[in-house]
Amino acid sequence: MRFLLLLSALVLSTAAGTVESLANQCCATLSNIIPNNVFFPNDTAYMQEEITYYSAQQTSQKPACRVSPTTASEVSQIIDQATRLGCHFAVRSGGHMNWKGSSNIGPSGFTIDLEQLNSVSLSSDQKTATLQPGAPWSQVYDTLSPLNLTVVGGRASTVGVGGFLMGEIVLSNGTIVTASASENADLHWALGLGSTNYGVVTSYTLETFPLGDMWGGTISLDISQAPAILNYLANFTLKLADDPRGLSAVTLAWNETSRDYDLFVSTAYLLPVSFPPLFSGLEPFVPDATSDTLTITNITAITADFAAGDPSGFRTAWWTLTFELDPQTVLEVFQYGQELFSDLVAVNGTQWSLNIQPINQDFIKATEAANNPAGLEGDNLFLILEHVIWTDASLDDVIEARSREFLAWAEFIASERGVLNRFLYLNYADGSQPIYKQIGSSNLASLQEVKRQYDPDNLLGRLWKGGFKLP
Ligand SMILES: Cc1cc2nc3c(=O)[nH]c(=O)nc-3n(C[C@H](O)[C@H](O)[C@H](O)COP(=O)(O)OP(=O)(O)OC[C@H]3O[C@@H](n4cnc5c(N)ncnc54)[C@H](O)[C@@H]3O)c2cc1C
Repeated sequence: MRFLLLLSALVLSTAAGTVESLANQCCATLSNIIPNNVFFPNDTAYMQEEITYYSAQQTSQKPACRVSPTTASEVSQIIDQATRLGCHFAVRSGGHMNWKGSSNIGPSGFTIDLEQLNSVSLSSDQKTATLQPGAPWSQVYDTLSPLNLTVVGGRASTVGVGGFLMGEIVLSNGTIVTASASENADLHWALGLGSTNYGVVTSYTLETFPLGDMWGGTISLDISQAPAILNYLANFTLKLADDPRGLSAVTLAWNETSRDYDLFVSTAYLLPVSFPPLFSGLEPFVPDATSDTLTITNITAITADFAAGDPSGFRTAWWTLTFELDPQTVLEVFQYGQELFSDLVAVNGTQWSLNIQPINQDFIKATEAANNPAGLEGDNLFLILEHVIWTDASLDDVIEARSREFLAWAEFIASERGVLNRFLYLNYADGSQPIYKQIGSSNLASLQEVKRQYDPDNLLGRLWKGGFKLP
């Protein structure tokens, strides 16, 4: 028995050695092709790219090399070499997907870091903006805001464009194609839920719309206000049908300093008006706020404020679910999570939180009209994000186990009450959540058909690690 274990350990380490030496060979080959932009573990550029991931688990991965292309044609050469040699690789834009391996890889492969593909440009009529994936939203807003323009983007300025939207794309055979409603329309559709299945997107063109100053910020309240604020959020979600220009998101979060839970309401409105009717239900809470950053300013400042509330560099876990508009179930799920994580939050530095965001029925109708592959259905919904932050790597397994237990219970309770919606938002999901299982069989079959056309040998399924893979 012992002999067998030793033998299998030897086989595994030899296999790991072989994979790592292939990765080193791939890096050496890429170094010859784009000599100035392949970085190795002792290079300053390698270290700088590694520390700019949002989560510490991603930073802890050390690829054989990091490759930073400056043009789509270089991306094409990299993919071509990777698929010829059989190299494993990961792709990173803003580095804000949190789970380990989602956009980074260990010594068994290399990481394509798109940080140098970061231009933001405007068409001559200013009706469209073309963004490259390495540009964070702060750069997009900084460029467009002085012109009183914006695009639909992220609420936290530090997040990357890459994982968000999907233009111009490098396919598994290294060819560069355009995906739009009129060109490769099937691919364009599939990229709506494409993750790492179809190719590396090297630019996106988005419609611009006018935006001057706006109103927004965050108030914090005592956690005892949670029932009333969740009722406010349910009403707010319904009111979006009359005025879709606003966002209110609620976070119930452990505060390490006060050693208790706090409640945060983050708010944004696309006009420079304080407390328009859409937010009338929020105004009565403001006198009791323990902090208040609500102000009229520009989108750059507001998204920087939101990003400041969620800094990089910690170990983090994100898991998601979707409920019907039922404040009571959210409250009970929160109470369950508080109990489940009570011993862990007592450990210095561990913070557990629940974030709840509205999905109004008109958003759902719009995605249905666009035939979005995510298969979002239903009426008005609450998008739920369970979020854990900690520092001690020895807690990784226990936090994962608790999060699973929390999700299973929350799913069970919501299902029992008939308030569980099948939607799992890809951007908020843990890597183990079954993103493609809940989109409906017809959407899944169509996505798989597009995959067969654009990556017939499933090269990207086998070699590109990270993201969510089509079953
Ligand atoms: C603080 C914070 C705030 C957030 N706010 C929002 C929000 O307001 N709205 C929202 O929807 N989500 C939000 N998210 C979630 C975020 O959108 C996702 O995590 C998203 O995947 C991040 O994109 P990125 O480019 O930064 O990530 P990365 O980690 O670089 O990439 C994410 C995934 O996309 C793949 N990928 C990267 N670049 C490309 C490319 N060019 N072509 C193809 N695949 C690529 C990667 O391989 C990886 O699988 C937030 C996350 C954080 C941490």
